[in-house]
Amino acid sequence: MKKHNFSAGPCILPQSVLQQAAAAVLNFDNLDLSLIEISHRSKNFIAVVDETVALVKELLGVPEGYSVIFLGGGASLEFCMVPYNFMRQGGKAAYLETGTWAKNARIESELFGETIVAASSADKNFSYIPKGFDIPADADYFHCTSNNTIFGTQMKSFPKTEVTTICDMSSDIFSRAINVADFGMIYAGAQKNMGPAGVTMVIVKDELLGKTGRSIPTMLDYRTHIKAESMFNTPPVFPIYVSMLTLRWLKENGGISWIEGVNQAKADLIYGEIDRNPLFVGTAAKEDRSNMNPTFLLTKPELAETFDKMWKAAGISGLPGHRSVGGYRASMYNAMPLSSVQVLVDVMKDLERIA
Ligand code: PMP
Repeated sequence: MKKHNFSAGPCILPQSVLQQAAAAVLNFDNLDLSLIEISHRSKNFIAVVDETVALVKELLGVPEGYSVIFLGGGASLEFCMVPYNFMRQGGKAAYLETGTWAKNARIESELFGETIVAASSADKNFSYIPKGFDIPADADYFHCTSNNTIFGTQMKSFPKTEVTTICDMSSDIFSRAINVADFGMIYAGAQKNMGPAGVTMVIVKDELLGKTGRSIPTMLDYRTHIKAESMFNTPPVFPIYVSMLTLRWLKENGGISWIEGVNQAKADLIYGEIDRNPLFVGTAAKEDRSNMNPTFLLTKPELAETFDKMWKAAGISGLPGHRSVGGYRASMYNAMPLSSVQVLVDVMKDLERIA
């Protein structure tokens, strides 16, 4: 039987998507060729990119004036592409530092120019989201991370500011409604709610580009990829194809409003148990808890060996927390059914019964 996969990423994808992807690796579109042995410029593959872009636009309600592109290099490459494309020569950027990835993004920006930490939650091991901070009005952009995969916190709202907001949504894209018009750019590595590792989706407001006065290497210039419709060089064909299948799955099941409800039900179930069960304690501030990556500790660490045996026996995988937090992290991306979260909650209840 398939495991209940709580991995933080790469992570669970819908089983029907994996089956269709496997079939396409053997024979794509009845071409008697594999998806991964045809030209990325063939009409069959161009149709895949076009459909993926259309699904992104439809599911997220992307307004006119924004481009959707698919890039290699992981979300981490965006950490340097963002300042390259948005920080003016002699300009500055403001960063909200809410975790390891947010910090990694800020470090890259420092290579380009003045980088202000608008606020940080490093003082409490990133267990909360700072609020009520100032964003300098003369910053070229404000960068934030919507969901902190490692620390299990999530921005429930975004600061209202005239400054262009750029957001790393790698670990909660497509999990809840967002207003794309509030952002100058959104980016996300695919390997949580979209598809396999290897492709990063970028949604960018066209009119903001080309204003920095910098010379940008061709491959690092968003305009290159917008102009070539993600075909400037060979794009990550397989990850894009699987992303298309996952977005089709999302649309067929009811889109963002459907999945937002499912994700809330999963979060209510597990956080309810964490708060009820005296053997567990959450690590994130309650109002900032992530609906994607609940993080928690045992109140009696000596029970770890027993608990670990129990969840493994229940067919659960990927539960250990990141080394910087310890304990457990139950990542519950879009494809995870409520029934798998119930299996985990039942194990937590069983531990209380026998302890
Ligand atoms: N941002 C966030 C929020 C992440 O969770 C991750 C990876 N888990 C990254 C960035 C880095 O992504 P990549 O490994 O694709 O570079």
